[in-house]
Amino acid sequence: MKTLLFTHASGLDHEMGPGHPERPDRLRAIERGLEAERFQSLARVTAPRAPLEALLRVHPQAYLSALEQAQPREGYAALDSDTVMCPKTLEAIWRAAGGAVAAVDEVMTGAADTAFVAARPPGHHAGARNPMGFCFVNNVAVAARHAQAVHGAERVAIVDFDVHHGNGTQEVFWSDGGVMFCSTHQAPFYPGTGGYNETGEHDTIVNAPLLAGSTGDAFLEALIDRILPRLRDFGPDLILVSAGFDAHERDPLGGLRLTERDFAEATKRLMDVADRKCRGRIVSLLEGGYDLEGLSRSVSAHVQALMGA
Ligand SMILES: [Zn+2]
Repeated sequence: MKTLLFTHASGLDHEMGPGHPERPDRLRAIERGLEAERFQSLARVTAPRAPLEALLRVHPQAYLSALEQAQPREGYAALDSDTVMCPKTLEAIWRAAGGAVAAVDEVMTGAADTAFVAARPPGHHAGARNPMGFCFVNNVAVAARHAQAVHGAERVAIVDFDVHHGNGTQEVFWSDGGVMFCSTHQAPFYPGTGGYNETGEHDTIVNAPLLAGSTGDAFLEALIDRILPRLRDFGPDLILVSAGFDAHERDPLGGLRLTERDFAEATKRLMDVADRKCRGRIVSLLEGGYDLEGLSRSVSAHVQALMGA
């Protein structure tokens, strides 16, 4: 099994001000976890910048230009109350999306079996025309559109287990029957979307909300009973994962009680579907996760599962 790890140093330069939970130390904590002996066979790859045409499949040029104009020469520029640019933000945005695109290339061509993109900023709250919730460009949406446009994927599945609903991703693919979006998330909770009744124009949106305080058992039940059957019926050519780890019991933002073992189990279940339906092709992108210890342990468990170990 060949598993790739995409990173770029620019992810350490984007910062949104003192005390902001979506911070560079998140990537440092992940890297420390992946230094362990068992990750020696993980192939490290430097994330390239996303080609403009890949970004344009999701975001209009006017929005991308507005982002470029918004980046400050010094200090910070707040796009909303919790989504902030610094002078180094754009490079991190292009590399996070670029890592996602390159990971899709490697996995769709068979050069690798699975890939994890350890990049920030995250993406799943970003809409086509708006930043939101620490997100600027919707990385997983860019990855899905790239798989469709460049690799001829007819059906792409996105599974999002971040504690927050991926409202931006849902919005982008609401009317696209070629992309299935499945999400487990805490509800009621930020951003307020993700109800069972939100199913999209082609019934390809599958939401599985979880009440605050839910444990891994409830999470795995939602995944196994509600999401996996739909995923198998859909028969994706590629599975993308919006891998947020803020549903971990240690997370200061989320109110769920998952452990790293639950993330490992979920990953194995997704790989099982991928093995049956799409030659094991999975590309996973980092979203949230704000307790450094919980994040590090969870990413290690997730990546180890992606390596088939
Ligand atoms: Zn989140």
